[in-house]
Amino acid sequence: MSDLIYKKNNLAFSHVDIGHLAKKHKTPFFVYSEEILVKNYIEFFDGAKNAGLKNPLVCFALKSNPNLEVLKVLAKLGSGADIVSGGELKRALQAGIPSHKIVFSGVGKTEEEILYALNVSKNGIYSFNVESIEELELINVCAKKLKRVARICFRLNPVVKPKTHKHISTGNKTHKFGLLEKDILESLHNKKLWSHSKLVGLSVHIGSQLLDLKATKRALMILSAVALKMGPDLEFIDVGGGLGVDYHPDETSRLPSIHNYMELVHTNLNKYFYAHTETKPRIVFEPGRRIVAKAGIFVMKVLRNKISEKNIFVIVDGGMNDFMRPSLYGAYHGLIPVKNVPATQHCHIVGPICETTDCFGSNRLMPKFNSGDLLVLKDTGAYGFSMGSNYNLRGRPLELLIKKDKKIKIINKAQDYTDLL
Ligand SMILES: *Cc1c(COP(=O)(O)O)cnc(C)c1O
Repeated sequence: MSDLIYKKNNLAFSHVDIGHLAKKHKTPFFVYSEEILVKNYIEFFDGAKNAGLKNPLVCFALKSNPNLEVLKVLAKLGSGADIVSGGELKRALQAGIPSHKIVFSGVGKTEEEILYALNVSKNGIYSFNVESIEELELINVCAKKLKRVARICFRLNPVVKPKTHKHISTGNKTHKFGLLEKDILESLHNKKLWSHSKLVGLSVHIGSQLLDLKATKRALMILSAVALKMGPDLEFIDVGGGLGVDYHPDETSRLPSIHNYMELVHTNLNKYFYAHTETKPRIVFEPGRRIVAKAGIFVMKVLRNKISEKNIFVIVDGGMNDFMRPSLYGAYHGLIPVKNVPATQHCHIVGPICETTDCFGSNRLMPKFNSGDLLVLKDTGAYGFSMGSNYNLRGRPLELLIKKDKKIKIINKAQDYTDLL
């Protein structure tokens, strides 16, 4: 059953009436559902276990949604974190995610961030997912300074091209991410890099919003081959994140189920890795989008209509500064009127920002709107609020959480523009 349905012609999300919410809270705002979040996390984690992957660690990618209350829900379920900055590290710890479940990705870790991560506990964090040899050098120097041992995982660039948007693809030579096999293997012989560092893992992450798993399968084969060459020290193999969701109805039939994805991971790692070694490293996952995208919506109000000959523009109070994916990637997101009235016109749903790309949907079949009518932008739980900005000196929107008992919790207050001035 869908989580967005009309009840007596009024749209409800996760059993809560949207019109009712918009009477109490000023639009635009994000709403997340604890119930969907929990369901998605458990489906993912249990999927891994049921496929026969022992002791899996799911490190939620904070950049997709770093809201403290969202993270607390995941932390209670046992989630770890995949972080890419000192800010995200602090947030993960605030949410109660223990340091031994935190992996640190990203090509630009600063000395300050590395020292912070090494200092969060006696053993630092679970791993630094290292993206260059210079970074490894710096981590080793930092660990020496603190008399600690840094836990190191290499992020492998498997040189594969997944079928996804070019701006969210990361696993090829032309991308800044990951290390080539030969550079990883060479570094293992360079003793001075390892005086205060310990090799514990190997990872890949080839891109985001993956719906076709062919490139994932190839990446797993390549990952396995390199992992075997790295010897018996590996404590874990990190298969990254990137599993997609069906933003567009055409994507639903191609959407890999969690079951199929986990079977693919299990089968390929068994065949290409576990069958050739005595060691049994655990599997780490770094999902973001698949856990939260569908757990959130963005609610907007129609300000007015504007007709430019054949073009009907419906101007809403949400903008690309609140939700960037359509303007940044040309991403499709479903738009649904909160009142269930028959659709009679094709129109463009646009925001107030002074950019032509500030458009949530072109030529969408919609009812005729009046000022004050409400619209929902679907599937905005991931890369929504976290990518937002104060562009045009607009305050950041409110975030609400529908708790399991259907109570509504304000989990981030709206910013007023006076907060910015
Ligand atoms: C962004 C990112 C993820 C999460 O990607 P999703 O597509 O949201 O699952 C995981 N790992 C790394 C290294 C990332 O950069």
